[in-house]
Amino acid sequence: MAAPKMFDLSGEVAVVTGGNGGIGRGIALGLAEAGASVAILARNQEKNRGVVDDLAKAGVPAIALPLDVTRRDQLAPAMEEVERKLGPISILVNNAGIAIMRSALKFRPEDWDRVIETNLNSCFFLSQIAARSMVARKHGKIINIASEYSSFGAQAGIPYAASKGALVQTTKTMAIELAPHNVQVNAIVPGWIETDMTVGAQSGKMFDEIIMRTPAGRFGRPEEMAGAAIFLASHASDFVTGSIVHVDGGYAIR
Ligand code: NDP
Repeated sequence: MAAPKMFDLSGEVAVVTGGNGGIGRGIALGLAEAGASVAILARNQEKNRGVVDDLAKAGVPAIALPLDVTRRDQLAPAMEEVERKLGPISILVNNAGIAIMRSALKFRPEDWDRVIETNLNSCFFLSQIAARSMVARKHGKIINIASEYSSFGAQAGIPYAASKGALVQTTKTMAIELAPHNVQVNAIVPGWIETDMTVGAQSGKMFDEIIMRTPAGRFGRPEEMAGAAIFLASHASDFVTGSIVHVDGGYAIR
């Protein structure tokens, strides 16, 4: 059965940071399946090549460029290269993220900076670059991948929670400025998802606690993030902006 036209992403060009694995890969494959051309921006070229092969199976143009999102001087050149190869970027998914867990008393300044630069600063600067051309064309979708720790306290993950909390405020604030230009800015809050980032929580006492706390009674899978991303990337969400969409098996409501 064909997807309803309002969810059709044919002709759109999507950038997914950190799209070579985990949640980013799940979202990239979903956007491709809905018809978008996709560019992956992430560091590991071997993983980049793997996901491009998978994206090609969806029959859409797909590329991957090596990019460390903490290198501010490389953000604009990477986005320009995407536009040269695929066309104007109409969808940006700020997904690249890292978590460093350590006691507040022991956090090193360089680790604090790395988490904030990756999870927050890069999202703003990439959004700024993308938004300039989206505003000019009066069409664009920015999707930030936030976290339950955007609003909850986190044990031993202070810069992670700080970055994700600020990312939600960045989402809402940019949404207000860009709304008159028909550019929507929204965030997805995944629950606990089976990825490399959560390997340490996929067994033992922490796993039991998460399962008990999650009404759905399980971890989510990366591909389960794609539905919300397609919605927020498509015309179906043209009147949705500044929203925080939970895809979490009910974690946030218990
Ligand atoms: P993974 O560790 O599986 O993937 C992280 C991705 O980010 C990788 O593709 C990695 O690619 C990329 N990345 C990391 N640092 C950089 C960098 N400096 N420059 C470019 N790319 C980078 O994590 P998840 O898939 O679990 O997480 C994806 C997003 O979802 C993150 O923002 C995370 O905070 C968020 N999230 C995850 C949850 C979960 O339960 N898994 C829950 C809530 C939010 P490479 O190393 O090749 O650069």
